[in-house]
Amino acid sequence: MKRVIAIDGPSGAGKSTIARLLSERMGFYYLDTGCLYRAIGVYLNEKDVKDTDDDDRIIVTLKSAEIVYDGSSVFINGFNYTDLIRTPLAGHLASVFSARGVIRSFLLEYQRQFGRQYDTVAEGRDMTTVVFPDAWKKFYVDASQEVRANRRFKQMLEMGKPITYDEAFKDVKLRDERDMNRKIAPLKIADDATYIDTTHLTIYEVIDRLISLCKQ
Ligand code: C5P
Repeated sequence: MKRVIAIDGPSGAGKSTIARLLSERMGFYYLDTGCLYRAIGVYLNEKDVKDTDDDDRIIVTLKSAEIVYDGSSVFINGFNYTDLIRTPLAGHLASVFSARGVIRSFLLEYQRQFGRQYDTVAEGRDMTTVVFPDAWKKFYVDASQEVRANRRFKQMLEMGKPITYDEAFKDVKLRDERDMNRKIAPLKIADDATYIDTTHLTIYEVIDRLISLCKQ
């Protein structure tokens, strides 16, 4: 049986960086599930599918989509989407399409299969609650909305993507509302997850804390 460290938390809490560094330190694979939702969102958008379309239309389009994630890059039908998914539009598409049950079902088995194959640090919104309810370790990583908006703002600027702090704040707020209030697999703190508030911690302090919790 492989070990899964499941990490959930809201947008901009630093989950991706934390999960990637933790996976390197633990010698585990890194499963970035936001990246799967982003790639599917961009793919459906390319196929002119709308998040308001009926299930059948979405299912038919997904039938011809073979998704592959190798621990850092994501491919659909052999095309590499990794560089295309780090935009505000891709984030928006992931956020609206991920509320649809057909899309969550489509990605569920792929994620579980990944966790069955490799020791994995899996990061997203429903890792501890839905995808890996029996995970070896469960964490919920959080930070205040202001700090998360500021991190998102700086990250976008570093990537050369024009954005204002106000836009970043609005985006974080809207995504929280959608992720926490959707009917299927909403973001919430699992009863058996350890809650970690990163507002006043550096990434390295968070990693040290997680590693010591994994060793307990
Ligand atoms: O984590 P990231 O910002 O890349 O995720 C993009 C969007 O994908 C999130 O805002 C969320 O709506 C959705 N998502 C999800 N479930 C996951 C991972 C991401 O609904 N496990």
